Amino acid sequence: MSAAPDREPIGVIGTGYVGLVTAAGFAALGSDVYCVDIDEEKIRGLEAGRMPIWEPGLEELIAEHRERLHFSTELGPALERARLLFVAVGTPPTYSGDADLSAVHAVVDAMPASGRHALVMKSTVPVGTGESIERALAEHGKGFGYVACPEFLKEGAAVRDFMNPDRVVIGDGGGWAGDAVEALYAPLDAPIVRTDVKSAEMVKLASNAFLATKISFINEIANVCEETGADVVEVARGMGLDDRIGPKFLQAGIGFGGSCFPKDVTALKQLAGNSGYHFQLLNAVIEVNELQKRRVISKLQKHLGSLVGKEIALLGLAFKPNTDDMREASSLVLSSRLQGAGARVRAYDPVAEDEARKLISGVTFASSAAEAIDGADAIVLVTEWPEFRDLDLADAARSMRGSLLVDGRNFIDPDAARGAGLVYEAIGRPSRDGAG
Ligand code: NAD
Repeated sequence: MSAAPDREPIGVIGTGYVGLVTAAGFAALGSDVYCVDIDEEKIRGLEAGRMPIWEPGLEELIAEHRERLHFSTELGPALERARLLFVAVGTPPTYSGDADLSAVHAVVDAMPASGRHALVMKSTVPVGTGESIERALAEHGKGFGYVACPEFLKEGAAVRDFMNPDRVVIGDGGGWAGDAVEALYAPLDAPIVRTDVKSAEMVKLASNAFLATKISFINEIANVCEETGADVVEVARGMGLDDRIGPKFLQAGIGFGGSCFPKDVTALKQLAGNSGYHFQLLNAVIEVNELQKRRVISKLQKHLGSLVGKEIALLGLAFKPNTDDMREASSLVLSSRLQGAGARVRAYDPVAEDEARKLISGVTFASSAAEAIDGADAIVLVTEWPEFRDLDLADAARSMRGSLLVDGRNFIDPDAARGAGLVYEAIGRPSRDGAG
């Protein structure tokens, strides 16, 4: 399969969740894509057709367009063949909560002087980053163009999101590169937001902060529902039909995690603080989320008393279903809080076990939900993997030592759980005993 003649070849620097999906997506649209990563093992694996991450549809898309995808640890082929270099390296949080831009700076420093290239920033960066990169590039006489093109894909649905974006945001100061990026996205027929670099950077941070706020909001409503006997699932249903509110991100649970929301909310809070503004609302969003992860412990204690020596089965570990990403997953806090309270933790996740093993200690990993549940005093459903919908609840109840199911995602049908003989506790839904 050769590249479509009218499609611009591109470079993609960083082949993680964003970089690899971007590369595969643009290859599918007809571009030759030159991928670069400093991780030699990852590049060797990709060359051999091994996926470094678990993302639905990605392996197939890469296999289908393999001839247009080129992988290297060197920048040379990308610089030689492409004008646009998409940057998708990680920007994890530092101890201060600011974004760690060292990988972005490493990429910028590695650029040669060139009047024909432009960096297209996919990585999530603080507002002002583009301006300082442009300044640094100019000071070193590198002559590079710069475009802010933040990424909004969701892990677990990343390929679909690439192909059907709600919008594409392109921030630049004029010049050829912004137009070239717009032309690349044109076949997707998505609304294009052309704006300045700083506003594009802020669209990304503000969008994630708003979604996180929505989650913490419904979680607080859930907590009040528990005090008052209302059912947050019913409340969210009624709220979500208001089209000013919408039904998405109104699912109460045990808090948000992942590689984006926690870090981007904190980064925006720090960015505001660094520029002299106290972003009070985001402090509350973060604090509510931290407390929410711990509420499961008191639900377990309400039924089991002391957790010392209790066997707790965690179903799901990934921060959400359909991904193996464990970054900032609620299960990390939960498993260590449980062990801190003296419980023994067994856990099962359909795909995230390998990633989880790198981050969680002291936990026994089971190879199926049934194995994790067997002999447990309580089950905690942490991640709403579709396969847990088909759990044989009667079997589960029979094989357990206890009978408690804490549904951290309001995922299981309460009547079915109770009908199977389980004591069912959810988030923000009435308990049978009338208590929260
Ligand atoms: P990731 O950690 O999965 O991948 C980053 C990749 O960059 C790694 O493979 C790493 O080896 C590589 N890398 C680091 N330094 C490099 C360098 N100097 N040269 C070449 N490669 C280098 O990260 P990710 O989840 O894909 O996120 C990338 C960026 O996109 C972050 O800023 C993130 O906030 C943002 N983002 C992520 C998501 C998401 O859902 N994961 C969604 C939207 C935006």
